[in-house]
Amino acid sequence: MYLPDFDYYAPESLAEATALLVELGPAAKPLAGGTDILVKMKNGLASPSALVSLKNLTELRDIRWEPGRGLVIGALATHNQIRDSEVVQQHFLSISQAAHQLANNQIRNRGTIGGNLVNAIPSADLPPILIALGASVTMVGPDGARTVPLESFFTGPSCCVIEPEGEILTEIVIPEQDTTGSTYIKFGLRKSGALAVVGVATAVTMDGDVIRKARICLGAVYKVPVLAEEAAKVIEGKTWSDELLEQAGRTAVGCCLPISDIRGSDEYRRDLVRVFTRRALKRAITQGHV
Ligand SMILES: Cc1cc2nc3c(=O)[nH]c(=O)nc-3n(C[C@H](O)[C@H](O)[C@H](O)COP(=O)(O)OP(=O)(O)OC[C@H]3O[C@@H](n4cnc5c(N)ncnc54)[C@H](O)[C@@H]3O)c2cc1C
Repeated sequence: MYLPDFDYYAPESLAEATALLVELGPAAKPLAGGTDILVKMKNGLASPSALVSLKNLTELRDIRWEPGRGLVIGALATHNQIRDSEVVQQHFLSISQAAHQLANNQIRNRGTIGGNLVNAIPSADLPPILIALGASVTMVGPDGARTVPLESFFTGPSCCVIEPEGEILTEIVIPEQDTTGSTYIKFGLRKSGALAVVGVATAVTMDGDVIRKARICLGAVYKVPVLAEEAAKVIEGKTWSDELLEQAGRTAVGCCLPISDIRGSDEYRRDLVRVFTRRALKRAITQGHV
């Protein structure tokens, strides 16, 4: 389990990093926290010719609130930084709580939000809550910057729209919104350090007891994190009740196509989707914070 040989670069600016990635070609990869790519390299699952460390791009570690825009999280913010950020907790406590559910303390200290998204594994913990809250992501490459909604960022397991030649994910923006409650709940086989067998994020806008708007995003049960739009339609405009949320849970099952693997059968995952959708909706409706 030794790392294969590779060249290492640590550019001082974003412009230098993108230029370097273009020059080195697609066999070179950005390096953020290294919790995924170094493990893959050690296991022989990746063999980049060069790693371009983003560690000197300190501006990409920033987390801030921009009035009129929303919560801006730099791609190099670590999971523990997001979990502990007062700005995140003040505006979207559910994102802080989702970051806390990811992996274990060592991984959270090094792993970044950017790496979590570009990694694009269907069971990743941050995409569902970010998609439920309508986040967008910005990438900077040789042709400039572009921003896409996170819900259209993922194209398949371990695949996303980022261009392999020189594009770097720079920031994630969660827009200002009238959401009244949101949450992410995950079922893993251990309390800590386990990937999600199923993860469900919900965001609701309540008007008294009436659900005005709902977004439900399912993780680990499709090739990409998936919005359960049909399930949201079942409850929007209605007064909430346990029966209604159960109906939404049953409808959400129809929005996923889970695999069977060592962590659970497809049938088991479908049942978890039903139960966790119902629970996540109830928590978002009743807990009183976003
Ligand atoms: C023991 C263990 C447990 C884990 N548990 C979980 C878990 O419970 N939940 C979960 O979601 N994940 C889990 N992970 C996966 C991983 O740790 C996280 O996804 C982490 O956030 C990856 O971030 P990183 O900064 O370490 O990425 P890196 O390993 O540095 O990079 C990952 C990939 O993204 C690319 N990349 C990174 N940053 C950028 C950027 N800004 N722009 C362009 N490309 C970029 C790299 O080139 C690489 O291909 C676990 C990993 C381990 C080893």
